[in-house]
Amino acid sequence: MADKTEVQRRKELRRAAEAKQRASEEAGLPVSKETLWALFDYLDESLADGCDHSLRITEQFLSSRKIQSELVVPWLGEYGGFCDCEVLFNVEERWGRQ
Ligand SMILES: [Zn+2]
Repeated sequence: MADKTEVQRRKELRRAAEAKQRASEEAGLPVSKETLWALFDYLDESLADGCDHSLRITEQFLSSRKIQSELVVPWLGEYGGFCDCEVLFNVEERWGRQ
């Protein structure tokens, strides 16, 4: 059985690995976190009418900010955001304000 210091050491290793993982994911963001947050807010307001299972609202937001959707859409997919409501549920869960 691992003693206390060993448990502690493993915990620290895991924390360091998670921080590193997070930093590299952040480096891979196609837009700033602030832009993502604005997107989540926009979706939140616009999805009151329901999702039509496309990225219509996301695309609208991106084009209003002159952001190429080709850069962002594949990234959203990596986090399970294949339509507007999924972006809000799946991607915001990971990248929303902490
Ligand atoms: Zn949807």
